Amino acid sequence: MDAGDVVAGFRGAGGGDGGVHAAGHGGEDAEGALRGLSHNPSRVRVHGNPDPRVSVDDHMGEKQADAKRGDSDRRLGRRALLVGGAVAAVGTAALAREELAHLWWRLPGVEKPRVAGAVDFRGARWVAASPANYRRADRPDDYAIDRVVIHVTQGGYRSAVQVFQDPGHGAAAHYIVRKDGLITQLIRELDVAFHAGNRGYNERSVGIEHEGFVERASSFTGEMYASSARLTAAICGRYGIPVDRKHIIGHVEVPGTDHTDPGPHWDWDRYMGLVRKARSAGAVRGA
Ligand SMILES: [Zn+2]
Repeated sequence: MDAGDVVAGFRGAGGGDGGVHAAGHGGEDAEGALRGLSHNPSRVRVHGNPDPRVSVDDHMGEKQADAKRGDSDRRLGRRALLVGGAVAAVGTAALAREELAHLWWRLPGVEKPRVAGAVDFRGARWVAASPANYRRADRPDDYAIDRVVIHVTQGGYRSAVQVFQDPGHGAAAHYIVRKDGLITQLIRELDVAFHAGNRGYNERSVGIEHEGFVERASSFTGEMYASSARLTAAICGRYGIPVDRKHIIGHVEVPGTDHTDPGPHWDWDRYMGLVRKARSAGAVRGA
């Protein structure tokens, strides 16, 4: 809908090479709308839906991501209507109990403790993304993690970090890997980053951005591959994710996406080989 405007907006702010996936990491359906109704999205679901994975949001499709950036009053109205409808449709005490049981760990004091500035990958630099670009969660307890999604920023490292810190962007990944291999973490793996443009895939995955452009083979350096492969191997080890192309995917392979990253120049064979190697080394070390 107004994706073009969004891109233009970020190009201005991003300093030349910007537009870091502005059109399409496109956030997560209706996350903004949920925030409009409540500070606690799960609370909305308690009344509205027996299973967060079959959320009412999923019926709204990608269009909602656009609507989110448009007229917020109109969006809120549509959202409220949908929630109302879901309450009427579900509304049984049994389902509500089930939902409450599923969400017990979201109660205050039950979440895993967090340390400010902590990273999930040793050696990663921490730069916090705007909380508007992810949803606080308690993975893998509330959502199992079984995918790693590979992205390319379509811009430079600095402008990517900038847009992920921008609450208006509506999207960010857990990590970004710089051309020289530096890894920056912006969102804890505990949390659901809005990077895949697909709610279910956001909930089940860790997103890794890579500095560069899909159309430029030179974007993808040996340092970047090596560093990213170690990161992916560690994620796979942490959550028991098989090292294969079903579980380590490109953004282009996320259902419903119109994104093409990482593109034809991303060397999957090379990358997967490096991930396998790093994974077996990690397994030997017990990492
Ligand atoms: Zn992407």
